Amino acid sequence: MKAAILKDKGVLTYEEVPTPSPQAGNLLLQVKAVSICGSDIKRYISGHRMYPLILGHEAAGVITQVGEGVKEDWVGKHVAVIPLVPCFECEQCEKGFYSACHSYSFIGSREAGAFAEYMEIPEKNAYIIPDELPFDYVSLIEPSTVARHMLSLGNFKAGETAVVLGAGSIGLMIVQWLRILGAKQIICTDISDENLAAAEALGAEITINALKQDVVTEVANLTEDGVDITLEATGVPEVLEQAIPITRPRGRIVLAGNQPQDKSLPMTFIEKMMRRELSIIGCFMSYSAPFPGHEWDETIAALLDGSLNMDKMISHHFPLSDAPDIFAKFKDHSLEHRKIILNPEQENN
Ligand SMILES: [Zn+2]
Ligand SMILES: [Zn+2]
Repeated sequence: MKAAILKDKGVLTYEEVPTPSPQAGNLLLQVKAVSICGSDIKRYISGHRMYPLILGHEAAGVITQVGEGVKEDWVGKHVAVIPLVPCFECEQCEKGFYSACHSYSFIGSREAGAFAEYMEIPEKNAYIIPDELPFDYVSLIEPSTVARHMLSLGNFKAGETAVVLGAGSIGLMIVQWLRILGAKQIICTDISDENLAAAEALGAEITINALKQDVVTEVANLTEDGVDITLEATGVPEVLEQAIPITRPRGRIVLAGNQPQDKSLPMTFIEKMMRRELSIIGCFMSYSAPFPGHEWDETIAALLDGSLNMDKMISHHFPLSDAPDIFAKFKDHSLEHRKIILNPEQENN
């Protein structure tokens, strides 16, 4: 089979590799669509823990083969890939906190992923989806579940007001989930007018371009004491600092943007947070019990009833063979994009 392989920092190749044959308890999946995650781009640009590695964890496909001990009727099923592979045995797994598992694996980061014609996954990592859902949409289920999980962790309730900091893929998914779950007012910030236009199309009532307007002043003008919940999806420390003054006393701030590891926050951040009695809540991945969690069930329901718009999330489709070129463009920032879907080329597509 053909696969796109991360060989080293900044080195991605497209080449022939052996097609896996599924081990006991596993399934073989023919990949129909895989979407590129910001974390894939980061692994390519900043380097990764292991090489060579087939990247890709936001994937959809059809089961073509089963390993020993797995029911044959999996064959032909359409599935979304659930990338987290928890041990299901440790203390955290027992509690249902799968993303805190003591010894987890992750498809496309710690084991071979979906930038390939075929991939092998454990049976528990396939989520069956109705045949009528397009594979491109199914490949976007995983990022949607992250946004849904953030709102669960932040205990979001219908009728609340919210600011979404960042209108990238996760930010746009958050905007959609706020709309679906009945937010009273959705404010979204970004530094790209194009991203903000997408946020507006997906349900944000008010958008603020942080390069042109002061976010803290604008939110103060709109809400007096701040919003009920703030969702941080940029990973930029300066943006994180904005979260405090725009959130109302006793409000919640949920963090999902990957922050750099070499920055520090001013201590006034803590002082301001204490004065407002704010809760700051971390979010890592998208899982809850029973595995993989209601985030996944709700995403599929929202795709089926049309409330989750995936078309607006996607900016490009490319064949998988273009992966080396596309990733080179990420490095020199010559490709403006939202979600990019890669489709492995197959004769019997
Ligand atoms: Zn991802
Ligand atoms: Zn575990």
